[in-house]
Amino acid sequence: MAGLKKAILRTGFEALYFSGSHVWLRPFVAGIGAILTLHHVRPPRREAFQPNRLLEVTPTFLEAVIVRLRRAGIDLVNLDEMHRRLTAPQRSRRFACLTFDDGYRDNLEYAYPILKKHGAPFALYIPTSFPDRLGELWWVALEAVIARNDRIGLVVEGEDRNFDCRTASEKREVYEAIYWWARRLPSEEDLRNVVRDLATRYQVDIAAFCRELCMDWNEIEELSRDPLATIGAHTVNHVRLTKVAEKAARAEMRQSAAVIESAIGKWPQHLSYPVGDATSAGPREFAIARELGFKTAVTTRPGVLFPEHRDHLTALPRISLNGEYQQLRYVEVLLSGAATAILNKFRRVDAA
Ligand SMILES: [Zn+2]
Repeated sequence: MAGLKKAILRTGFEALYFSGSHVWLRPFVAGIGAILTLHHVRPPRREAFQPNRLLEVTPTFLEAVIVRLRRAGIDLVNLDEMHRRLTAPQRSRRFACLTFDDGYRDNLEYAYPILKKHGAPFALYIPTSFPDRLGELWWVALEAVIARNDRIGLVVEGEDRNFDCRTASEKREVYEAIYWWARRLPSEEDLRNVVRDLATRYQVDIAAFCRELCMDWNEIEELSRDPLATIGAHTVNHVRLTKVAEKAARAEMRQSAAVIESAIGKWPQHLSYPVGDATSAGPREFAIARELGFKTAVTTRPGVLFPEHRDHLTALPRISLNGEYQQLRYVEVLLSGAATAILNKFRRVDAA
């Protein structure tokens, strides 16, 4: 599935770029700004099996994007300024926000020096269980289970199934199959139980990934003192909010803000919904975020910002800097709004 989608995406990007369509579509699709989504920023790794590679870009690519944005006359702004420009009636220059989800330590090690050098504002959305060292990076644990074994057993819909995963391509297939099957289970707890069970049986220590990959509170607090930084909420347990009861969803959002405030002394004004696609955050979550007083909340629904988004400040789209497409011409097509306009069938706001 992902392979096919990838091929279409890549062909689509190339087609838009080389036909120049992203330029002539610009008056219709350009929007007023964009929020970019990043996760890991680190040097490329050699392994053939990297199912989560879409979640990382290299420091070189990040720097190239910053330079290109500035050269294109796009202002890099923080989330408060983004909010101001969306809600203020006067026209301003096009803008972009750099946002990093999950609070990975590589953000501090590799991204921060670049951001600092270019004076680029950025936001970090922190799931508080990660610096509390109680978080489950279940997608990383699933990757480790498959990477370290040639065959794994799993009960799928009451049936014992075995998956051969000897080669990198078999591992990729098995990862995709289990990942998407688990994502479609009814509740967040169902998905967690699948990965917890695999991790226990194949001796993968889920808690270790948190310690290894994520910043601790001291590091986050230190970063938060830089005026370039905005610390935003990303729930406590990084749950897909649509997959838990309303009370739990509200508690996840509210509690994460309270924990961040006690750690850095500032109540976070901005939120990012974990996973953030239409199956993970919807109208119920957008309403709760608004009630809780967040100024903005971001999804991972693809799109650029239009003036109409001022009425949907807790359902903002983003443009993902995907590690599979680390080419500036893809970013150019994405920021033109052309690719996402086609994806969204030229509908500007997607908040349903
Ligand atoms: Zn996240």
